[in-house]
Amino acid sequence: MDYCLRELEGKQAHDPLLIEKMNNSSQSSSSERCVWVPGPVIVGAGPSGLATAAYLKEKGVPSLILERSNCIASLWQLKTYDRLHLHLPKQFCELPLMGFPCEFPTYPTKQQFIEYLESYAERFAIRPRFNETVRHAEFDATLGLWKVRSFNKREVATEFVCRWLIVATGENAEAVVPRIEGMGDFGGTIKHTSLYKSGAEFRGKRVLVVGCGNSGMEVCLDLCNHNATPSLVVRDTVHILPREMLGKSTFGLSMWLLKWLPIEFVDRFLLIVSWLMLGDTARFGLDRPKLGPLQLKNLSGKTPVLDVGTLAKIKSGHIKVRPAIDRLKRYTVEFVDGRTEIFDAIILATGYKTNVPYWLKEGDMFSKEDGFPTKPFPNGWKGENGLYAVGFTKRGLLGTSMDAKRIAEHIERCWNHFFPLT
Ligand SMILES: Cc1cc2nc3c(=O)[nH]c(=O)nc-3n(C[C@H](O)[C@H](O)[C@H](O)COP(=O)(O)OP(=O)(O)OC[C@H]3O[C@@H](n4cnc5c(N)ncnc54)[C@H](O)[C@@H]3O)c2cc1C
Repeated sequence: MDYCLRELEGKQAHDPLLIEKMNNSSQSSSSERCVWVPGPVIVGAGPSGLATAAYLKEKGVPSLILERSNCIASLWQLKTYDRLHLHLPKQFCELPLMGFPCEFPTYPTKQQFIEYLESYAERFAIRPRFNETVRHAEFDATLGLWKVRSFNKREVATEFVCRWLIVATGENAEAVVPRIEGMGDFGGTIKHTSLYKSGAEFRGKRVLVVGCGNSGMEVCLDLCNHNATPSLVVRDTVHILPREMLGKSTFGLSMWLLKWLPIEFVDRFLLIVSWLMLGDTARFGLDRPKLGPLQLKNLSGKTPVLDVGTLAKIKSGHIKVRPAIDRLKRYTVEFVDGRTEIFDAIILATGYKTNVPYWLKEGDMFSKEDGFPTKPFPNGWKGENGLYAVGFTKRGLLGTSMDAKRIAEHIERCWNHFFPLT
C-alpha cells in the first residue's frame, strides 16, 4: 500500500501522545516555536503554491503556505519588468478551478495576472504565512513526520511539523549571476533582470544585455523604446519563433498539431513558417540549434523565444548582436572576437535557478546539481514519505496545474482514509 496510507494507519492527527512525542524529540532550541500542522505544509505562495492550496481546499484538505516574501506571487510582483505580459495566451496560463476574466486580453499584462492571482487567493480564502523563509526541511523517520524550519524577518525560528510537505518554491527562486572577469572593476551599473523595471532608467545610455532568452530579448526592445542603445550578447544558438502564426498563437497551434503529428513534423512546420515570416535569423547572428524547438524544449527544457518585435529592431540595426564577453574593464567590454566597446550599463538576462537543494534535506527526489526532480515529466511530482513537488516541469503554468491536481488527489485519498467523511 502507498506510503502515506501505511503511515497514517492507526495514527490520530490530534492524538496528544503523538504530539507530546513529537515535541520531545524535536531538536529545536527552547526559544524556537513548534507548530503542528494537521494538513500539508506548502513552501512558496507563487502560482504553484496557490493552485495546490486551492485544489486541496476543494477537496476539504486544509493546508498552510509558508512564503518568504510579504506578498503572493513575489516573482511577478517584485522581480519582473513593467512591460511584461504573459508570454503564452491566457487559456494556457490559468490556474485550476478559476479562469481569467473574459475581458482580459489574450496576453494579459503582468498587472492583470497579479490581479487574477489576488482574486484567486481571495476566492479560495488562501492566507499564506508571509515573511517566513524555509531554511531546513527534513523527514523524521522515527515520528514519520516532516519538520520544516522557517525564519521570520526578525530571525525568529519556527518549526512546523506535518505529514505532507509540498515544494512550490519555483524554477526561478534565485537569480543566476555569472562570474565575468573584471566585473568588480566595471564602473557602470550591472543588474540582473530580476531588478530591471523599465528602460526609462537607461535613456540615452549604451546598455549591454547578456542573454537572449525571452527576457533578454524583451528587455532589449524596452530599452530601444526608451531611447537607450542596447547590444545583445548571444553566446549560444537560439530558436526565435513569431508569437503568432496563421492567425493563431504559435504555442496553441503547436499543441494542436502535436495531437495529430509527430514532434519532428511539427518542428519542421514551425521552422518553415518562421523562416517565411522572420527570414533567416542566422544572418543577424542568431543561429538556430540543430534540434527543432519542441524537441529541444522536451530534451533540455530550453524555451524558444517568442518574438514580440525585437527581431525587427535587430534587423534595423537598433539592437546590435555581440558574441560572449571576454572581460570587463572600467567602462569597456572586451568580447571574445577581440572587439572592445564602451557601455554605461550591463543587464544580466542570465536566468534563474531553484533553491531546493539548499533547504530540503532528502534522499533522491531532487537532483543536488540542478535542484529539479530527478524523475522525468510527468512523474516528478511525487517523492517518498509524503513529499511532493509542484511547478518543476519546465512547462510553465500548464505544468503547474497538472502537478497541483495530482498532488491534491493523492493527498485527498490519504486524508479521507484518515478522516473518513462518514
Ligand atoms: C519573466 C517571466 C515570464 C514568464 N511568463 C510565463 C508565461 O507567460 N506563462 C507561463 O506559463 N509561465 C511563465 N513564466 C514561468 C513562471 O515562472 C511560472 O509561470 C510561475 O511564476 C511559476 O510559479 P511557481 O509558483 O512555480 O514559482 P514562483 O512564481 O517563482 O513562486 C515561488 C514562490 O516561492 C517563494 N519561495 C522560494 N523559496 C522559498 C523559501 N525557501 N521559503 C519560503 N518561500 C520561498 C518565492 O518567494 C515565490 O513567491 C515566466 C517566468 C518569468 C521569469
